[in-house]
Amino acid sequence: MSERRKYIVGNWKMNGTRDDLGEAAAIAEVASATDTVDVALCPPATLVAPMADRLAEFSIGGQDCHHAEAGAYTGSISAAMLRDAGARLVIVGHSERREGCGESDAIVRAKAERALADGLDVILCVGESKAIRDAGDAERHVTAQLAASLPASFDSARLAIAYEPIWAIGTGDVATVEDVVAMHAALRATLASRIGDDAAKIRLLYGGSVNGANAAELLAAANVDGALVGGASLTAVKFLPIIEAAA
Ligand code: PGA
Repeated sequence: MSERRKYIVGNWKMNGTRDDLGEAAAIAEVASATDTVDVALCPPATLVAPMADRLAEFSIGGQDCHHAEAGAYTGSISAAMLRDAGARLVIVGHSERREGCGESDAIVRAKAERALADGLDVILCVGESKAIRDAGDAERHVTAQLAASLPASFDSARLAIAYEPIWAIGTGDVATVEDVVAMHAALRATLASRIGDDAAKIRLLYGGSVNGANAAELLAAANVDGALVGGASLTAVKFLPIIEAAA
């Protein structure tokens, strides 16, 4: 377990203009001085190239990509385009896309496969709604989502899984450490049933209202190998304590 380096990823969602590149630079500076933690930022697509140009050593990612290689998909961005812009990774299957854009497990899986094929590492998101959790069906739902969204084959060093309960995202209503530990154990078991011992190499991130005050406890928990952070990644002053909690 200790072989898995902690991984802290910021997801700026639909926030940020070139005026915010200074925040990214401040985050990158601390990240480069923290050699025990991997840090990445996923800005909106418009900022991938300017951020990657300015912060050449830093890991920049996209927040989504299309599952096709190229073609007539107005408004969409391919994995190869993100890579060309300087991205090293991409988030796929965020609940704001699964729910908001009707993306099925099959689409998410196709996106993950396309991204890996086109040279991007992948953060694959899964998570349950409040209704599913209240019905006692969270583990079954989330492990089924993972099984159906996993690429057919992949290098375990290039894939991370983010467990993000939908009801915890942007609400301040963070999941309990016990619930996160139970879910991550179930996700690890699902991965092991697919790829055997290599499952131990895959980093499992928690996401949903992570902040400087709760990060240390979450990151110390079994099978919590990092965090996917939304609101608290937008400024260096909020994001740096989370990186420090992982170090
Ligand atoms: P949040 O978002 O940290 O603002 O809750 C997390 C996410 O959606 O990745």
